[in-house]
Amino acid sequence: MLRARGYDIAPSERDADVVLLNTCSVRDLAERKAVGKMNLLAHLKGRKPELVLGYMGCMAQSRGAALAEKQSAVNLVVGTQRFHRVPEYLDEIFARDGGDAIVDVAEESGSESTIKDHVLGTNGDRQVAGFVSIMQGCEMYCTFCIVPYTRGSERSRPIAEIVEEVRRLVEEGVKEVTLLGQIVTSYGRKEIRKKNGKSAFVQLLEAVNEVKGLERIRFTAPHPKGFGDDLVQAYADLPKLCEHAHLPVQSGSNRILKAMNRGYTREWYLRIVDKLRAAQPKIAISTDIIAGFPGETEEEFEQTASLMRDAQFDQAYIFKYSKRQDTPAADMPDQVSEKEKECRNQVILEILNSGMARMNQKLIGQTVEILVEGRSEKAGKRMFGRTRTNKIVFFDGSERHKGELLPVRIERATTITLYGDIAIHNL
Ligand code: SAH
Repeated sequence: MLRARGYDIAPSERDADVVLLNTCSVRDLAERKAVGKMNLLAHLKGRKPELVLGYMGCMAQSRGAALAEKQSAVNLVVGTQRFHRVPEYLDEIFARDGGDAIVDVAEESGSESTIKDHVLGTNGDRQVAGFVSIMQGCEMYCTFCIVPYTRGSERSRPIAEIVEEVRRLVEEGVKEVTLLGQIVTSYGRKEIRKKNGKSAFVQLLEAVNEVKGLERIRFTAPHPKGFGDDLVQAYADLPKLCEHAHLPVQSGSNRILKAMNRGYTREWYLRIVDKLRAAQPKIAISTDIIAGFPGETEEEFEQTASLMRDAQFDQAYIFKYSKRQDTPAADMPDQVSEKEKECRNQVILEILNSGMARMNQKLIGQTVEILVEGRSEKAGKRMFGRTRTNKIVFFDGSERHKGELLPVRIERATTITLYGDIAIHNL
C-alpha cells in the first residue's frame, strides 16, 4: 500500500523517512525488545527531527496511547484492525507539521480482508514461498494468552477470495503458500457450513490444493482441537498439503491443561498424534511448550517431560511462562520463579535436542525433496531449502536453483542442521 503511494524500502533505518515497528505481545520479552528498539530510533530522531516513528501490531493494540505518552518521539500508533490506514495517517503527519501522535486502535469489520502480507518482487528478487492471511482473531481464551484481546473475535475471508490471492501469487512465481491466522483450524466456522462432514478449513485446503502450479501448502497457527478426522484425512488425501503438523500441546499434565483452558487431555492429544501418523506415516510433528505455568508442580512438569519422550516431536518451541496483562493466569496463585522456569525450560530443551539428533542421524543417506528458498547468511553462505516436513537442508548450489524443487541426498547432520548434496536422478 505504501509502495502504491510512491514510498520505497530504505536501505537502512538511517536513510528512512518513516520507521514502523510491527510488534508482538505474546511474551514480555518481545515487548521489551520493541520498546528498546524504539528508544534507539528516538535517538536517531534527535539528530533528524523530521523522522516519523510508529508502532503497529499487537502491542500498539493493547497499549494504545500509553506508548506515545511514554515515548514522545512516537508519531503513530496503529492497532491490528486498522493496519490498512497507515498510508493515510502518514499523509496526514507529513501534511501538518508536528502535533500530537495519531493513535487508532479501533475495531473495523471487514478488516480481515485488508491484510496482504506479501511484498513480491523486491529488487528483482523472486519470492518462492508466500503467506496468505485467511482469518484474524481468536476466541479460545487460553488463560495464559493475550491474543484474543489484541486480535479480537474470529473473522474469516471467503474461500474464493483466498483462492484468487493464491492464484495471483503462483502467477508471480510462488510455489508454496502458508495459510495464516491466529487460529486457522477455526477458519470459517461462523461463516461457512460443514459440507460432507468437512469443516470450512478442510474445504479451504481442498480448494487451494486445486490451484494449478502451486506445489506445497502449509498453515499456521492451528489448535489441536481443530484436528478432527476430516483434517487428519486431508493429510492422506491432498497431495500438496505438506507432511508437517504443528500441534501446540503446551503441557503434558491434565490439571495444567485444564487450568490453561486448552479443552483437551494428554490422552486425547496423543491419540491425535497417533491418528496423524497412521494417516500419513511420513508426517513430522512439532509443538509448543510452556514451562512453569502458574501452579505447575515438579510432578506436573515431569508429565510434560514424559509427553515429550512419548510423542517424539520433530521440532518444539519452548517458552518460559510470561505474565500477560489482564489474562486470567496472570492473577493465579503460586507463580513459578524465574529460576525454576529457566531450569524446566532447559530440561525440555535437552529432551528435544537428543530426540532431534537421533532423528536427523536417521535421515543420513536418504534422498528428500527440498524447495530452494535462497542463500543463507549462515552455514558458510550455502544455498538452502525446506523439506515437505519443514526441515531446513543446506547444500552447495547456485542462485539458479532458487525456486526449484530439488532432490537432495542427506550427507551430514548435526542436532538441528541437515547438509545435503544435489541428487542426480534418472542417470
Ligand atoms: N495461536 C496463536 C498463538 C501463537 S503464540 C497465534 O498464532 O497468535 C505461540 C506460542 O507462544 C503458543 O503456542 C504458546 O506456547 C506460547 N505462548 C503464548 N502465550 C504465552 C505466555 N503468556 N507465556 C509463554 N508462552 C506463551
